[in-house]
Amino acid sequence: PTAVSATNLTFDRSRSHHQEAERYLARGVSSAARWRRMPVAIRAASGAHLEDLDGNRLIDCVLGLGPILLGHNDPRITEAVIAQLRRGVSIAAEHEGEGRLAQMLVDHIPFVEKVTFASTGSEAVAAAVRIARATTARTKILKFDGHYHGWLDPVFVNVPGAMAPVSHPAFGARHAVAGLAASDDVVVVPWNDTDAITEAFSRHAAELAAVIMEPLALNFGVIPPDPGFLETVRRLCDRSGALLLFDEVLSGFRLAHGGAAEILGVEPDLVVYAKALGAGQPIAAVGGTAAAMASIVHGPVKPAGTYSGNPVSVAAGIAMLEVLEERSSGLYRQLEAVGDVVAQGLREVAARRGIPLVVQRAGSVLQLLWSPREPVRCYADAFLSDAEMVARLCEGMLHHGVLAAPRGLLLLSAAHGQAEAEAVIAAFDASCHRLLA
Ligand code: PLP
Repeated sequence: PTAVSATNLTFDRSRSHHQEAERYLARGVSSAARWRRMPVAIRAASGAHLEDLDGNRLIDCVLGLGPILLGHNDPRITEAVIAQLRRGVSIAAEHEGEGRLAQMLVDHIPFVEKVTFASTGSEAVAAAVRIARATTARTKILKFDGHYHGWLDPVFVNVPGAMAPVSHPAFGARHAVAGLAASDDVVVVPWNDTDAITEAFSRHAAELAAVIMEPLALNFGVIPPDPGFLETVRRLCDRSGALLLFDEVLSGFRLAHGGAAEILGVEPDLVVYAKALGAGQPIAAVGGTAAAMASIVHGPVKPAGTYSGNPVSVAAGIAMLEVLEERSSGLYRQLEAVGDVVAQGLREVAARRGIPLVVQRAGSVLQLLWSPREPVRCYADAFLSDAEMVARLCEGMLHHGVLAAPRGLLLLSAAHGQAEAEAVIAAFDASCHRLLA
């Protein structure tokens, strides 16, 4: 058994910072995904660590919510960014890097023949949805319950967190979201439910422009597709003419160099990457087959964006893909190994302490669920996890030096070694101790 760490950090300066910021900054933080009831304000980041305003040194298991795959301030990325800062940051003309980065993506991803860049995952998803609608001259989008595709209108329905599953009889109807345009054009189906998607296609096949999914659903439970499920969806799309759109904003370059598509062996028509691609700089890519991207090449869809494909983000993207080309297989083996050590360690602690913890994992992405149900196969299953207990476990870990997302998502990077893995497990043990005391 791991020793229970005596550390019990305090966060007084973070709390004062938050109270002061809240007077001017709505909610005190720019993204709802970063808001915590126990605020932590960070002064500096390096490798696997963060330093907060109270001087606490924390192991970072949030990693920018995805972009930081190599560790904070990896020297190759930092050097590339600094060099580009000196050459110019905003150039409203073509520049060399843009074409180079697109070529690197096309060279590596078999189904990507053309690429366009945006700045954020949400924006790129919106672009991909528009491309699919223009290509098919249809409007409806099919999404899966609980999958997250960014915070913009077209797909911000039935996202994880407060919104209940649409499809489970116990939970009832689709959630309306304040401030959003009506989303009648979005059909929502439970993940891993072949009957439900077959039925949805039998009703809407002629109207569906695209099926969008996180091919390995990382945002609400780290849930892989059941064997054969993606193949079924691919077949339904082929028969109906709907485009298959993989949202690899979080999974791309994190799970494998070729993303979840590489692991799962199914090719979409369109794909969106962001997060790890820019290693912390804001960049997203929409890629696809020549046919799927034809609406941009020849036609009606005209992506824009002052910062789309900006030189600094592109320089970071090129540096990131160069690192992956050099280190690819070793890097993913390392991430798999450290992910396995942490997951096994957490499971052992939970079993010893009698906590109903389910740890779902794909590579370097772990989800903690306080769940009566295992395996967790869809959003309705994950929704039964006790979010309050998970939040308290994560708060306890923070007191013992580990920052995890309050909803129980833990990410690991290449800078997380055996020492960090052991510290995460020890912090979890201490947190369980605290919770059960
Ligand atoms: N899609 C997925 C799968 C994501 O995980 C996210 C962000 O968490 C997004 C889209 C939105 O990306 P961004 O936050 O860059 O707009």
